[in-house]
Amino acid sequence: MKYQSNETNENRRDILKKIGLGSAGLFGLGTNSAFGKDKETPAYAKGMSKVTITSVKAIATAPQGSNLIVVKVETSEPGLYGLGCATFTQRAVAVVAAINSYLHDFCVGKDVDNIEDMWQSVYVSSYWRNGPVLNNAISGLDQALWDIKGKRAGMPVYQLLGGKSRFAIPCYTHASGNTPEETIESVKKIQERGFKYIRIQQGGYGAVTAINQQPDFKAAGFGGATDNYMNQQYYLKSVPLMFEAVRKACGEEVELLHDIHERVNPMDAINMIKKLEEFRPFFIEDPLSPENMKWFKQLRASTTVPLAMGELFNNINEFVEPMINQWFDFIRIHVSQIGGITPAMKVARLGEWFNIRTAWHGPGDVSPVGHSAHAHIDMAIWNFGIQEAVSFNEKMQEVFSGCPTMNQGYMSVNEAPGLGVDINEKEAAKYPIGTKSNWQVRKDDGTIIRP
Ligand code: MG
Repeated sequence: MKYQSNETNENRRDILKKIGLGSAGLFGLGTNSAFGKDKETPAYAKGMSKVTITSVKAIATAPQGSNLIVVKVETSEPGLYGLGCATFTQRAVAVVAAINSYLHDFCVGKDVDNIEDMWQSVYVSSYWRNGPVLNNAISGLDQALWDIKGKRAGMPVYQLLGGKSRFAIPCYTHASGNTPEETIESVKKIQERGFKYIRIQQGGYGAVTAINQQPDFKAAGFGGATDNYMNQQYYLKSVPLMFEAVRKACGEEVELLHDIHERVNPMDAINMIKKLEEFRPFFIEDPLSPENMKWFKQLRASTTVPLAMGELFNNINEFVEPMINQWFDFIRIHVSQIGGITPAMKVARLGEWFNIRTAWHGPGDVSPVGHSAHAHIDMAIWNFGIQEAVSFNEKMQEVFSGCPTMNQGYMSVNEAPGLGVDINEKEAAKYPIGTKSNWQVRKDDGTIIRP
């Protein structure tokens, strides 16, 4: 005999009886209904009506300069829609195509409630998987479905993830300068704003702007006109000096972070990080490029400096080996790239078993919807570590309402159901996205340096 669902076979009363809610005398009511013959079934026991997806579309906008992609999922329930962040700023047009041309067709008619099933099915729907672009599209869909679930439940998403583990989200922000003195000044200004965690860089990533040196490849006319130059040896020498100066000038209380941005050879990274031990960094981020993961074991054995890793990982499976081997301390997932809230939560939970904490990647090329997704997870999970702060300019806040807010170094989300962020599509259309996407960094001889 073919399987038939309970809903068609049995009436609701029979189902309640089976699960023990329908027995006579339950709650002292003496009736054959869980809640009494004459009483109305409470709203919490009614369940939710079926809602299906009617459209999935990309909204592309760049109010703050960076290309942002937001997925809007519309439903059969009038007025009910969800928003998610699918931003891949460097290949934005490709993500728009993945959403409008493929996700829309795949999702229309499907139930909005079954997020895990949707994630698993859309993940394998292209057969080949785990690449950027498609993962960004899935991230946007996933976050939008969590937004819808929150709206249906009348709860902020952090409530659906278990409720608050903290009153707000401690954040770090970025200090920089071209000299140690300039960096110190920048740190002090940020401390005045209430931040206790500050990332320090000298000359941007890899000291690119700290030295005013014309590289040989430029003189030779090699590479593109806008290609950057990195003097790796200068960088490796300057970072310990910067840490020493900032620690001396700003005291022991401030927590200092630094992002290597993967741009040095593994053994050079190991030697430099060892030199930073005495300045007690909170973490050193992206010490090695994804191609150099095999060096992590040696890095870990060489130093006790806490490490953050993973913003360039495309695939949650990439986290498993380094995490169960405890090669790093902070999970640096780009939630709008890894596939959304659903897979990010799985990696976060894995971290709890190994005392590995979260530090979601929160740069300017994530939409306010994406930052809100970070913040809702941050509010709920126990093994939260730190969050990268963000600030939204006026134009951004004209396009997006309900953005996460910053106060004294803490990020907060509003209490609206879902992710709490809305988009004004008319305003968004005022800021078209661009297609310029080159960020090349080269050695003196012109060799490309991998981030
Ligand atoms: Mg980084």
